[in-house]
Amino acid sequence: TTNGRVPLIAGNWKLNLDHLQSIAFVQKLAWSLKDARLDFNDVEVAVFPPYTDLRSVQTLISADKLSLKFGAQDLSEHDSGAYTGEISGQFLRALDCSYVIIGHSERRTLHNETDAVVAAKTAAALRHGLVPVICVGETAEDLETHGPSAVPVSQLKVALATVPQGADIVVAYEPVWAIGSGQAATPEQAEQVCAALRAVVAEKIGQDAADKTRVLYGGSVKSGNIAGFMRQPNVDGALVGGASLDITEFSNIARFQK
Ligand code: PGA
Repeated sequence: TTNGRVPLIAGNWKLNLDHLQSIAFVQKLAWSLKDARLDFNDVEVAVFPPYTDLRSVQTLISADKLSLKFGAQDLSEHDSGAYTGEISGQFLRALDCSYVIIGHSERRTLHNETDAVVAAKTAAALRHGLVPVICVGETAEDLETHGPSAVPVSQLKVALATVPQGADIVVAYEPVWAIGSGQAATPEQAEQVCAALRAVVAEKIGQDAADKTRVLYGGSVKSGNIAGFMRQPNVDGALVGGASLDITEFSNIARFQK
């Protein structure tokens, strides 16, 4: 690619597919990508299954030497101790997770995750060698009141406040109004906010980090609209929800190359 960033197509399964289903799904996805002759030097493809699938996905990917990456949908800000129900970064790293999604809007709204929690989880991910996929995005109301970039920019500033210079991160711009709504942002809207987010990365953790950080767009991405997003200079891939559960759709999204 011209900017040196390898696009990332990430599939967020949310609360779908149990561990047996995950094995069949990843196997079929790998076949589909192989049929499509996807070149993993040109695009990185990652899946984000529920926690209980991770061991199965790890085993399959390593046994079949698949080029797919994977990660978790969340992690604890704590490393160990009396935190019932939590999963630590070191456990995820021990399962070969490369990535972890942090601050998805569903975590923020349904589990009251504040920007401070997102910052603590980002630190926890980096502490354990996981690349955080930091999600930010505004509601329709925010958009009307504050304009396009204000809320995502302020969310990212807090998330990166204590991140070391040059850290390896991914940022995902996911407008809340576009998630699961079928109403994706326009490529121009995505570009505007993704560019603003890249500027925050530069300000907080340095220009080199900003140059290498993948900034993704997410929210109703489908095979039919991915090309428009990927054409934007500051959009380096997609975080895909619903369409990541359809093998043909997801592999067609991944086949798109900038
Ligand atoms: P969607 O979800 O693709 O179903 O809109 C995106 C996300 O929540 O990450």
